[in-house]
Amino acid sequence: MQVYADNAATTAVSKTALDAMLPMLTDCYGNPSSLHTVGQKAAEKLSAARETFAKYLNAQPAEITFTSGGSEADNQAIVSAGAIGEQKGKKHIISTAFEHHAVLHTLKKMEKRGFEVTLLPPPENGVITVEQVKEAIRPDTCLVTIMFANNEIGTIQPIAEIGALCKEKNILFHTDAVQAAGHLHIDVQAMHIDMLSISAHKFHGPKGVGVLYARKGIFLTNVIEGGSQERGKRAGTENMPGICGAAAAFADACEHMDENAAHMISLRDKLLTGLAQIPHSIINGDLKQRLPGNVNLCFEGIEGESMLLLLDEKGIAASSGSACTSGSLEPSHVLLSIGRPHEVAHGSLRLSLSEYNTEKEIDYILAVMPEIVNYLREMSPVWDELEHGQRKHQI
Ligand SMILES: *Cc1c(COP(=O)(O)O)cnc(C)c1O
Repeated sequence: MQVYADNAATTAVSKTALDAMLPMLTDCYGNPSSLHTVGQKAAEKLSAARETFAKYLNAQPAEITFTSGGSEADNQAIVSAGAIGEQKGKKHIISTAFEHHAVLHTLKKMEKRGFEVTLLPPPENGVITVEQVKEAIRPDTCLVTIMFANNEIGTIQPIAEIGALCKEKNILFHTDAVQAAGHLHIDVQAMHIDMLSISAHKFHGPKGVGVLYARKGIFLTNVIEGGSQERGKRAGTENMPGICGAAAAFADACEHMDENAAHMISLRDKLLTGLAQIPHSIINGDLKQRLPGNVNLCFEGIEGESMLLLLDEKGIAASSGSACTSGSLEPSHVLLSIGRPHEVAHGSLRLSLSEYNTEKEIDYILAVMPEIVNYLREMSPVWDELEHGQRKHQI
């Protein structure tokens, strides 16, 4: 049996998205900046895609900028908010320790430019509190950037409350909504979100396309210089197949959000409950404030990487830590941030589901996992020490 359970890393392109992309590669290949009919046909598709994103986010089409993905949107949002703050002499940014590296590494760059960054430590349940944000706010705070939902442990942050606080304090609020878009309801007005990042390949759209929503009046700094595409905010001939695929995938995900979520939540909870029966395991992240498709646990005395290889042999595609950290020996910064000890964090497993997963697949995962854990523990010198009392169990 083949099971794809790594949808937080990327998803399969849906038929709906593919059908929207193909004509942009064949008949409708014009450059939307061209004044002739071929170009204007593409320009119409571009406008329609912009309207689709605006509609489902409750934004205006002019507030939507297409980028090369979630990473670029995160970079541009933070650099832009920094430039706006700097003009007012405000150079303090609030974020969290468990952001995606697209945010964390951009913040490092801002520090080199003289900004001060406060990274809030998430509580053990992986849900930042509004009080934490409130306490960190200073007179010189120019930006709060907090992810909508965490990509590893799936925890959903109190975005509407943080947005209201930032509005009250007159501070720009950006959220990396890459894991949330297409999976959770987003209303930039009701949630007081000033800037928001999206990536199409996390909701069955193509890779290499993202959206940066920026509220009207927020001046965006260019990350890519060149032509005047995207109202001069993002140069480069638009990735029309990608943009049309992204819009079709987003509309599809938003229209079927509740039914997809109900299906995924039932599979997720069955998996979480089943896997948590394995001795010396612990679930990571809040059980309720959680993405419909996220399953994340740590198993003591095991290396996550070995678990992934054995799962792969059984046809199951999963992840341990984030896509960027798997392959390196450093445990996930997200798991460390919620207080998991190094050795425990090393034994992590993330299974991220989509609406394509079935109950049969969940039963299959639940059938093979105990064997895999036992097999790896039998070979593990660390487990041997734990079992003989030379080392204390931590979970
Ligand atoms: C995947 C992801 C990104 C990066 O998006 P790309 O389109 O791959 O650049 C950023 N933030 C989060 C939370 C993600 O899950």
